[in-house]
Amino acid sequence: MSEKKIGIIGGGQLGSLLSVAAKKLNIKTTIYCDDFDAPAQNFCDDFIFGKYDDKIKIQNFIQKVDLVTYEFENIPFDTLYEINKFKPVLPKPSVNRLIQHRIAEKDFVNKLNIRTTRYVSVEKKSDIETLGDFLPGILKTTTMGYDGKGQFPIKTIEDINKLNIDFSQSYILEKLVKLKKEISVIVTRFGINNYEIYEPIENTHQDQILKYSIIPADITKNILDQSKDWASRIAEELKYIGTLCVEFFIDRNENLYVNEIAPRVHNSGHLTINAYNVSQFENHIRAVCSLEKIPLKKLHNAKMVNLIGKQIEPYRKNIKLNDNEFFFDYLKKEIKEKRKMGHITTLI
Ligand code: ADP
Ligand code: MG
Repeated sequence: MSEKKIGIIGGGQLGSLLSVAAKKLNIKTTIYCDDFDAPAQNFCDDFIFGKYDDKIKIQNFIQKVDLVTYEFENIPFDTLYEINKFKPVLPKPSVNRLIQHRIAEKDFVNKLNIRTTRYVSVEKKSDIETLGDFLPGILKTTTMGYDGKGQFPIKTIEDINKLNIDFSQSYILEKLVKLKKEISVIVTRFGINNYEIYEPIENTHQDQILKYSIIPADITKNILDQSKDWASRIAEELKYIGTLCVEFFIDRNENLYVNEIAPRVHNSGHLTINAYNVSQFENHIRAVCSLEKIPLKKLHNAKMVNLIGKQIEPYRKNIKLNDNEFFFDYLKKEIKEKRKMGHITTLI
């Protein structure tokens, strides 16, 4: 068996589930996180608490591991670039730099002739007057957003003026898509034209936070084929190694749009733990550690429900689960509103 030691940047639920998958493969994990209470401490072998620009602690981290991967995209590029001089960072740092900027990400996707929402950059006050074409829309910070954070729905130019935007940051205004459905496609790429792809997952959001994921997605064959084709083309073009997720919108006229790319494992893929022979987490570890690729097989259809904030409480009190239900507690210390605390997957 392999003696590899993997470093993971970020200690949330994705880092936890990556650690669990690594353990199964006999790979040791060291998590580096800027949250002293990071829940992944409960699942990894070794934990370093430090800021993402703390050069000394990052050096210590580098010494302990054979390669480094990450569970979230908002890591300073300089840090990943520095680490990559000593130990391989996978997916490579340039992928992360591209995707952490919403405009660069969408420009990249459009260059592949793949449809995204319509968008415009908003950098200064005088830009606001010219935005009529993109309304109604959603104003988003170009960097650092997740779970709907840093997003403002805009109906009229007046709405934007009222927001009193802080222009020390840059923004993107996206035209609102009249959504019929949202789906995601998860791909794990091992090398040139060498990947495994999970079937599209149908996602329902509440307050811009993922609430339900289900397979099979109720979509046409066209959308199924197109979404898988686009996701694998994106992974190929990025020369990506590891698990990646593409989030899509489907509008009321059955048009498919790429919403965003997550250069990492994804919340909508939690159901792959119970529904497939190899989960998105195990596949990520396999790909970045150059382990064998196992042909992917779906074992069950499934539905995942995110437990947000206080919704975790009854489950922590030993609720009786059926044989087809799997409960995961991320062991986050503090229950906060809008915080993803755990999930339940039901095989159907
Ligand atoms: P985050 O990085 O927070 O996940 P997203 O861009 O994926 O940001 O937005 C979160 C959710 O908000 C989406 O899944 C979707 O439900 C809604 N949303 C975002 N942008 C649009 C848009 N242009 N049109 C319609 N709905 C949108
Ligand atoms: Mg999203």
